[in-house]
Amino acid sequence: MTNSFHAGLLAITATCLLLSCRDAANTPNTATTTTTTASDSAQPTVQVIPRRERVLTAEEQKALTPDQVLENLKAGNQRFVRNDVTARDHSAMVRNASPAQYPKAVILSCLDSRVPVEDVFDKGIGDLFVARVAGNFVNEDILGSMEYGCKVSGAKLILVLGHESCGAIKAAIDNVKLGNITAMLTKIKPAVAKSQDFNGEKSAGNAAFVEHVAKNNVINTINEIMAKSPILKEMADKGEIKIAGAYYDLKTGEVVFL
Ligand SMILES: [Zn+2]
Repeated sequence: MTNSFHAGLLAITATCLLLSCRDAANTPNTATTTTTTASDSAQPTVQVIPRRERVLTAEEQKALTPDQVLENLKAGNQRFVRNDVTARDHSAMVRNASPAQYPKAVILSCLDSRVPVEDVFDKGIGDLFVARVAGNFVNEDILGSMEYGCKVSGAKLILVLGHESCGAIKAAIDNVKLGNITAMLTKIKPAVAKSQDFNGEKSAGNAAFVEHVAKNNVINTINEIMAKSPILKEMADKGEIKIAGAYYDLKTGEVVFL
């Protein structure tokens, strides 16, 4: 192997390592090892920033406060917006998560494929419980899932995540009737009714109105959680969990906390 070929190979290797190994040092879950590699004396030293391998432990979950979890999600979203997300060793995390799970939050999202929930908050395996239904409303099953996530499994935050240009919201505004979608939309229509004070054209073609309804729908969902789950209400009243709302911007990837 010639020196120039060797140097080129090393440069490519170093670039790949640096591209793939960005890690979030500000999470409690950073990877465990830092490795320094060097070739012969003529070559530069390459510092490898490790990929995250660890998953949340019971002790780490227990030590978190609801406000810390909220700040953690905000910071993760800022990294996502900057395209500066944590590199993860998914195979290692799959293995490390297999004995048990201690997620820090429950996220209720819409079905929309443009809202990849874990990615949006720069989270990985074992970090979040994610419930999804078009229009991010709650029913008995979603409430039961949330109660499991918080009361049984120790999550500290429930976040209801609406989003821009939501098709379910638009369908509710348009009073769409189609198969099981008809019944599903009745869960979203209270937000449409709540939004009749909107100053402007109240149609699915008006993005500002759709956003207004989507945000009211998030607020309605939070109110439903508090009204229909005495378990979660008690936990929230005691400060054991926080129930918050947020809105995802499809164009920027930013999550605005309501
Ligand atoms: Zn949606």
